[in-house]
Amino acid sequence: MQSNLSLINRRSLLISAFAGHLSFFLHPLHLLASTGSEDVSEWSLSKPEWKSRLSPEAFNVLREEGTERPFSSVLNNEKREGIYHCAGCDLPLFSSASKFDSGTGWPSFWQSLPDAIETKVDFKLIVPRTEYHCIRCGGHQGHVFSDGPPPTGKRYCNNGIALIFKPES
Ligand SMILES: [Zn+2]
Repeated sequence: MQSNLSLINRRSLLISAFAGHLSFFLHPLHLLASTGSEDVSEWSLSKPEWKSRLSPEAFNVLREEGTERPFSSVLNNEKREGIYHCAGCDLPLFSSASKFDSGTGWPSFWQSLPDAIETKVDFKLIVPRTEYHCIRCGGHQGHVFSDGPPPTGKRYCNNGIALIFKPES
């Protein structure tokens, strides 16, 4: 009797473990992670957690979709070759090869790196704009417009404080 009971317990444990795996594979975060090969769930931090990691200025932009003052970022004049990473989670977002001087006062790019950003339409101003954010941590980076240079015609208008530049060594 004793052994039968423990057998049943072991069985139900196995079943619940299997169900746990199944729900993991069906979870939308896992699906996202599999396309970008990034562990998104690791970056689902609370606002207080983000606040403790970021400067107040970076928090305002990355987590509250704020916009930095134009011409306030040193990255406007950054001309070296290298990669621009998300200041929230360090994911590489842009290459210096696609950076251009838009004259707007914000670092601008005509293309992001593959599997780096996601977009959504925002209605903060009366005209809808396409907001974009880091695919891994969800940190707001800027807005993308269709008045950029060739070859894409896109202009990714990025907050400098949301980026960390790593020059090619
Ligand atoms: Zn990020």
